[in-house]
Amino acid sequence: NALIGSFNRSKPVVEYPRRADGRFVYPSEIFGENVFSLKMMAKSLPKPVFTAFLKQRRGRQVLDKTTADAIAHAVRVWAMDRGATHFTHWFQPQTGSTAEKHDAFLTIVGLSMPSGEEAVAIDAFSGSQLLQSEPDASSFPSGGMRTTFEARGYTIWDTSSPMFVQKGPHGTKTLYIPSCFISYNGEALDEKTILLRSTEAIARATHDLLSLIEPEVHVNHVVSTLGVEQEFFIVDRSLYTLRPDLKIAGRSLVGNLPPRHQQLEDHYFGRMPSRVLEMLSEFELEAIRLGIPVKTRHNEVGPGQFEIAPSFEESSIAVDHNLITMELLHKVSHRHGLRVLFHEKPFKGVNGSGKHCNWSLSTDRGENLLDPTVRPENNYRFLIVLLCILRGVYEYGPLLRASIACLANEHRLGAHEAPPGIISVFLGSQLNEVLDSIEENRPLKNFSVPQFQSIKVGGTKLDLKVAQLPVIARDLTDRNRTSPFAFTGNKFEFRALGSKSSPSFPVVVINCIVASAMIQMAADLKAVMGDKPRLTVDDKLKVIREWIAYTKPIRFEGNNYRQEWIDEANRRGLPNISKSPDAFAYLIKDKYKEVLTNTLHVFQPDELEARFNIMHERYVKDLIIEGTTLKEMVLQKILPAVFAYRKSLAESASSLTSLGCDASPELAVLSKISKAVVDLQENTSILGRDLVVVETQRPHDTLDNEKLSYVARELIFTAIERVRADCDYLEDQTPDSLWPFPKYTELLLTL
Ligand code: ADP
Ligand code: MG
Repeated sequence: NALIGSFNRSKPVVEYPRRADGRFVYPSEIFGENVFSLKMMAKSLPKPVFTAFLKQRRGRQVLDKTTADAIAHAVRVWAMDRGATHFTHWFQPQTGSTAEKHDAFLTIVGLSMPSGEEAVAIDAFSGSQLLQSEPDASSFPSGGMRTTFEARGYTIWDTSSPMFVQKGPHGTKTLYIPSCFISYNGEALDEKTILLRSTEAIARATHDLLSLIEPEVHVNHVVSTLGVEQEFFIVDRSLYTLRPDLKIAGRSLVGNLPPRHQQLEDHYFGRMPSRVLEMLSEFELEAIRLGIPVKTRHNEVGPGQFEIAPSFEESSIAVDHNLITMELLHKVSHRHGLRVLFHEKPFKGVNGSGKHCNWSLSTDRGENLLDPTVRPENNYRFLIVLLCILRGVYEYGPLLRASIACLANEHRLGAHEAPPGIISVFLGSQLNEVLDSIEENRPLKNFSVPQFQSIKVGGTKLDLKVAQLPVIARDLTDRNRTSPFAFTGNKFEFRALGSKSSPSFPVVVINCIVASAMIQMAADLKAVMGDKPRLTVDDKLKVIREWIAYTKPIRFEGNNYRQEWIDEANRRGLPNISKSPDAFAYLIKDKYKEVLTNTLHVFQPDELEARFNIMHERYVKDLIIEGTTLKEMVLQKILPAVFAYRKSLAESASSLTSLGCDASPELAVLSKISKAVVDLQENTSILGRDLVVVETQRPHDTLDNEKLSYVARELIFTAIERVRADCDYLEDQTPDSLWPFPKYTELLLTL
């Protein structure tokens, strides 16, 4: 029925907006129309209020009550004109997703007045409601940082990210107020507060470094920029609802590959299924209205796998937009009878999904500090910034690894589709040669690309030798899809992130490790400069050369998926961290903790410890959820189905025998299946036992989460794999009509 339903379902018709005269509206005209942008604020606020707001935003002034009241009034009118009935602070607790609690603008006044007074309904929104709200923090992960009696938490309006309205029921809307989430004592309970602190840290460090190397250029402000490529699977919703594993754990816990999956390499960049395209374009329409600069959409490698990417923005805005993107995709796909799977590895044997973080630094003059301009070898600023990144990754690679560690990503990393647990940096042959030649103090070698010497900004000219095609600019770097951290022309791409995680913490780590290297770089440069008024070219070259030599072990240009690299990395002393609990451990090791806390003040020590606890706790809970789901699927669905099959085999064998016919084929199958059933029962009871072991040890005060996550990894992780192997064998042997779940063939190939 689910399959037939998926074909007969009527599709929602998405009308692309038109003008009164019937012509289509251009996307640029509706871009950001649901955002209370700076421009909109400038229009709707009295000038002194707007000026006060800008001053606050630049960190020069606190927001006073009058200003807040005026902004609250203006944004309420703006939002209500667009259909808003409610407002909500929108924040990012450490759950991996976002949180919101809606309040109505509708307010009844006069109820407490002397009797006889009539209650009056008004619409109201005050400055203090805009600035702050108080959700009960005890129901969000805190990593044991607060005891319950002081479990107050506050959400505080983050003025760096604009407010927006989003669709609610019956065409109404809700006003979203991006917020930070902190405890009564001011500790960060969320992702955003930390991200904003890290943004300040990298801005400061970059600014100080630039003033040293180019004192004549005045840079006021530096921001880190981020462009997030998002991969995901789409499955038919009715088939999805028949898979408890997808619903509960986000990934399939049983299932065999269909005979054709991704081996023909025909899905990547193929034509999109029309249902998916319909859904994605409706998503894009909403995203554009929310000011999300969606740019690309295409098929990914796996069947049913897709990717979208926006243009890059300031990091914290880009993170907000990535989270809204995921929520929007979820909502819109629902309307289309589809389900988006953000899990890192929903299907065994099929490529998993990642989230690539493209990261760079930009000045307030709009210059990209990772743009190697015309002659990278002469571009000291570029080289110095590049070396800071190399050094940050070299010294603190395990922090990057920790920032992307979670149960789901463990199934993907190192599985021939994503880099292994070793963090290294890919630069591309050209940039590599630039560094080598400086280190060896020799001229640049020629490159195989013939017109290399005439590079233009943005790329090498590449002649395709086909008359009809124009000469196109080639990316400065060759492509190496296997590297976890790759230079891609004018930015770095951190590719090890899982598709489901928020990009927030990984970006925090990049910001921090680069900032710390910049502080070191500034110190090294000052040391060679001595008493001179400014740095000479030789000073810069000296430090650059030292840093090139020092950071060499982190550079790797080959195939990161190969065993040779694992051996080589081992020789170089680069850690290979395959299990999440091992990765989390780095968060609280002295050297790593120091940089995040005392050096840069991005975390307070107990905030970092709390995060460490939360990550372990989450890991254990995820394992318990997966294990329990699988156990229930086996006991309630798979075993009964196989028992029914055994019964029918036994019945046919006995009637055949009673008729004097040969029942040996039925009996052969029966005995094969019976053996497998015994294994499955046994392994499932081991899984059940292991679940009890972990569940009963689960600490209430969260202090022993670390120990427990190793136990859970050891017991539940392996038990799940054993049970799965038995199930997958039985799926193969059981008639399709009896198997209780839609199989990979239906899930992956029905769109
Ligand atoms: P690819 O798949 O080749 O990596 P995409 O075009 O899919 O390329 O994604 C590239 C991403 O990098 C886009 O989101 C783009 O906006 C982003 N990007 C480009 N320049 C920068 C930059 N200076 N800083 C951050 N992100 C950037
Ligand atoms: Mg990419």
